[in-house]
Amino acid sequence: MADVQLAGIIKTFGALTVIPGLDLKVPHGSFTVLVGPSGCGKSTLLRMIAGLEDPTEGEIRIGGRDVTDAEPSDRGISMVFQSYALYPHMTVAQNIDFGLRLAKMPAAERRERVAEAARILSLEDYLDRKPGQLSGGQRQRVAIGRSIVRHPEVFLFDEPLSNLDAALRTQMRVELAQLHQSIGATMIYVTHDQVEAMTLADQIVVMKAGRIEQVGAPMELYDRPATEFVAGFIGSPR
Ligand code: ADP
Ligand code: MG
Repeated sequence: MADVQLAGIIKTFGALTVIPGLDLKVPHGSFTVLVGPSGCGKSTLLRMIAGLEDPTEGEIRIGGRDVTDAEPSDRGISMVFQSYALYPHMTVAQNIDFGLRLAKMPAAERRERVAEAARILSLEDYLDRKPGQLSGGQRQRVAIGRSIVRHPEVFLFDEPLSNLDAALRTQMRVELAQLHQSIGATMIYVTHDQVEAMTLADQIVVMKAGRIEQVGAPMELYDRPATEFVAGFIGSPR
């Protein structure tokens, strides 16, 4: 049961306080979307959950385990970035397999996991291609495939669709929702896009200047925004 709990999180960079104090519970298996304007601290929060950044104060628990000081590789998480960062000289299969190979997983199990990821992401026909021969959406699927094969309990997404055009973004939203349904992992998804938040989330966390303005289901925020900011951001009439 990999829920994620943040307690008393403070993050400063020198004199700059980015997160002045934040508590959040992300339920196991939820699709939780962190939304808020650029610079409000979304990526910083995600990077702290991933272990790429240390909180100045506070505690991070994943599946009940205190991981505040744990290495990124020891948190049961996997992060999908907005830039695909695929290896151009490797095939799709090799790209998806790369992390497993580094982890020295036996070849038979690696093959099985790559095949499973390819099936989930409809990449079976593209496994022998190089990234340069793929569309933007296919490349993004390969990037997600690299996460899926590691069987993380928690997926972290930082604006994974922001480099895609509008039509592809819509398609990928549908695919991400299906992915969540099929693997049932906890997903924490950062975006500044309200439409993405409203369509993907079962829980939305609205952030402003490093603080949480409101947490709730999409229609709850739409119908009962707690602040003018939430109303303006989610687009509900008020
Ligand atoms: P968001 O993802 O919501 O756009 P970020 O988490 O990237 O926001 O950034 C929040 C604030 O923290 C910004 O003011 C940004 O300039 C600052 N910041 C982020 N990372 C660093 C860093 N490594 N050093 C100094 N300031 C940083
Ligand atoms: Mg960001």
